[in-house]
Amino acid sequence: MNKWMTRASPSILVIDDAEPIHRLLKIRLATEKYDIHSALTSSDGLAMAKEVHPDLILLDLRIDDEMDGLQVLQRLKDDEATSGITVIFISGESDGDQRVKALDLGAVDFITKPFDEFELRARLRCQLRAQRTLHMLEQRAQVDGLTELWNRAYFDQRLRAEVAEARRHSRPLSIVMTDIDRFKPLNDTFGHPFGDKVLEQFGRILSHGRASDIACRFGGDEFAVILPHTGLREAREVAERYRVMMQEQVWTIPPHAAAADKGPVIVTVSLGVADLASCGEHAGRTDLVRMADQALYAAKGGSGGAARNRVVSADELCGESIEEEA
Ligand code: GH3
Ligand code: MG
Repeated sequence: MNKWMTRASPSILVIDDAEPIHRLLKIRLATEKYDIHSALTSSDGLAMAKEVHPDLILLDLRIDDEMDGLQVLQRLKDDEATSGITVIFISGESDGDQRVKALDLGAVDFITKPFDEFELRARLRCQLRAQRTLHMLEQRAQVDGLTELWNRAYFDQRLRAEVAEARRHSRPLSIVMTDIDRFKPLNDTFGHPFGDKVLEQFGRILSHGRASDIACRFGGDEFAVILPHTGLREAREVAERYRVMMQEQVWTIPPHAAAADKGPVIVTVSLGVADLASCGEHAGRTDLVRMADQALYAAKGGSGGAARNRVVSADELCGESIEEEA
């Protein structure tokens, strides 16, 4: 998945009982290339808001006998699925009291009919621009700056959702925890910028799996990949592919490196794999991470630490190594 993907044309839902208003808005906004949806009643409007999840709602203050605009807004804000949608009121009245109520309830603006064509377009552009900026900042806060993989906060939140989804549909789910071998000496010998290149390249390797795989930088030289719809055996093969790809990388040694360090450099990784099934019937996100972590620890060679450059999966863990970690 491309993290920076945005919807091509913004979608706008107009909720108003007057058919001519819908026609007029479509004409006035034709040049902006919006995807415009129309609802003529309050209940249709609420249903469409949920179904379409538009970028913005233009909401009439007086809609029908069932609900007025303020009640519709309240319902939108009360529902988690629609509470984040930007709402602008449109009204034939310029009652200050109503404006204050609308803004206090969470509307971002209030446009009075008849519309000034240019002002209407400018106000919509302004709100959509603010929304895009906010969306971008939210996304950036979840992405690791060096590797551009998802970060730890995103990993935790996404894994919780994926575990719930896998349980709901009785689908397999695996994760791979991985850590670069003897990374500190690499930094010490070739410098931090070289270490950064290694992290970036490993990030690229982890991103080249299936589009549904979710590669994250867990922190430092540790990474984690969530593999939805994937059982332990298949996940182990994926991890083995990462291991081989990393081992086969050719690295350009910085010119300032000492002569003794100029030979070919091989960077390896250790990987631990676990799936939901091997964690027990009621296991959750933390059990899965703990199990993959134990497998990673075993791949590093446990307390002896001699191994590395290998994959260990949860089914290969003996009780001994689990207790060793605990
Ligand atoms: P092991 O095989 O046991 O994993 O050995 P190691 O040397 O990789 O283990 P350790 O966890 O001690 O080393 C991780 C190093 O990663 C230490 C830290 O300086 C380095 N590191 C963490 N974040 C960054 C980063 O963003 N850039 C670079 N270049 N180094 C980083
Ligand atoms: Mg390491």
